[in-house]
Amino acid sequence: MSIHKKCLVLLSGGLDSTTLAYWLKKQGYVIEALYFDYGQGQMNIERGCAIAIAKQLDISLHIVETPRPSDSLRNLTSSQGLHSSMDDVKLFGDVVGMCIMAATFAFVYRFDSIALGVDADNVRAHPTLNNIFFRSIEKLVSLWIGNKIRVLTPFLEKDKSSVMRIGARLGIPYGDTWSCGANIEKHCGKCVECLARKEAFKQIQLPDPTEYECYG
Ligand SMILES: [Zn+2]
Repeated sequence: MSIHKKCLVLLSGGLDSTTLAYWLKKQGYVIEALYFDYGQGQMNIERGCAIAIAKQLDISLHIVETPRPSDSLRNLTSSQGLHSSMDDVKLFGDVVGMCIMAATFAFVYRFDSIALGVDADNVRAHPTLNNIFFRSIEKLVSLWIGNKIRVLTPFLEKDKSSVMRIGARLGIPYGDTWSCGANIEKHCGKCVECLARKEAFKQIQLPDPTEYECYG
């Protein structure tokens, strides 16, 4: 197997990153996974999902416990009255920080690429996180490390239901994934993430194995 096929997948335990991990493995990549634990409540469930997925894939899962950059900045931006207008900027900072940490890990442990499960729906919601952004991250990382680390985003132009069609063909156990943004023990069924999850299952006519608080 070529060393150029060794990839570190950023696995959140959600639909996209789980599909990405399965897909890359199917493509012949030698993969390991990296999970960022920011210490939030639902992260424990997400973390459990990431562990379960990694176990099913029989791959190593590396867990990084770290404050989210935007959480560290929250008090500052709130005190400046910038809370709502700064949301996209904070997300930008979080993704950049995550990519830099992942690329550093990838370089130290001799991976040739990192991979993120960003889909077209994510780009529509946050237009900054587009292909130009990720290619810029790739250039920045390579400039900084002095060695080419590719940043793979193969689902960037696919909407969530298209990504899940790939996953359905791969037989992914989506019941072991987590999407909800609410801090409760099962999917709330009402938040933006849950609604997108429900819609994706509906669109590809795949039975939704998720247990929701609200099925409406
Ligand atoms: Zn939810």
